[in-house]
Amino acid sequence: MELTFLGTGTSVGIPMIGCHCPVCSSANPRNIRRRTSLYVKTKKVALVIDTPPDFRQQMLDFRIERLDAVVFTHAHADHIFGFDDIRRFNTLSGKVIPAYGDAETLNDVQRVFNYIGNRPSPQGLYRPLVDFVEVMGPFQVGDVRLTPLDVRHGRKMTGYLLEAGALRVGYVPDCHEMPAATVRRLVGVDVMILDALRYRPHPSHICVEESLALLAQIAPRAAYLIHLCHDLDHDALAGALPFGVRVSYDGLRVRLEARAEGTVWSEECAS
Ligand SMILES: [Zn+2]
Ligand SMILES: [Zn+2]
Ligand SMILES: [Zn+2]
Repeated sequence: MELTFLGTGTSVGIPMIGCHCPVCSSANPRNIRRRTSLYVKTKKVALVIDTPPDFRQQMLDFRIERLDAVVFTHAHADHIFGFDDIRRFNTLSGKVIPAYGDAETLNDVQRVFNYIGNRPSPQGLYRPLVDFVEVMGPFQVGDVRLTPLDVRHGRKMTGYLLEAGALRVGYVPDCHEMPAATVRRLVGVDVMILDALRYRPHPSHICVEESLALLAQIAPRAAYLIHLCHDLDHDALAGALPFGVRVSYDGLRVRLEARAEGTVWSEECAS
């Protein structure tokens, strides 16, 4: 399984418009953060979790040319506003693309993109072709099994446990509170990807300290912090984290392979 971090920033992206703080004006490319999204690829399937406003640029920047499915966590603008651009993948594959999400999220996505359906427009207009699939329990996309996870984020937010063979990955980009049942479902995953907005508390996100406390309970083999704001300098944060917890960055690609002796993984930069 291959995971590509397409974006690791909070809703406004980093640099923020009109901000001249050290992180927003940093020369370190790891401090440039597109809006949060993850690309997951296996031998059989390629899917994206969320389609942020930066989606088109993310596809170009990281040379992504295959997409078989879209999975939504929730319908905040920073997670859905690039959705229209999946029409290029309809053209490339010649297929209708399924989009998965909980009922509330799909309602909002379909309200915003009310022209999107699963049949070509009778007037020949160029529109995405999508089968919306409501997630009500675990589902399969190719060889990846996805289990929806309940997470509090001021509104409904669905995290996911992704499993392919023996590999298990947890993905929770926006989180203010994680119910105990969700924590239990994630215990011992190979990789946990988790919200850590900033150091100071926030009404709808966990801060770094809260994220680390959750990670101590989940005890993944490796963890990556995402959805980061401009309070967090990549290198400074990386130097302050406990062993096994890493700061994600745009273009980070993690390859995971299940072997008899355990999971092996490697990291590279896709850009
Ligand atoms: Zn978000
Ligand atoms: Zn700033
Ligand atoms: Zn959100």
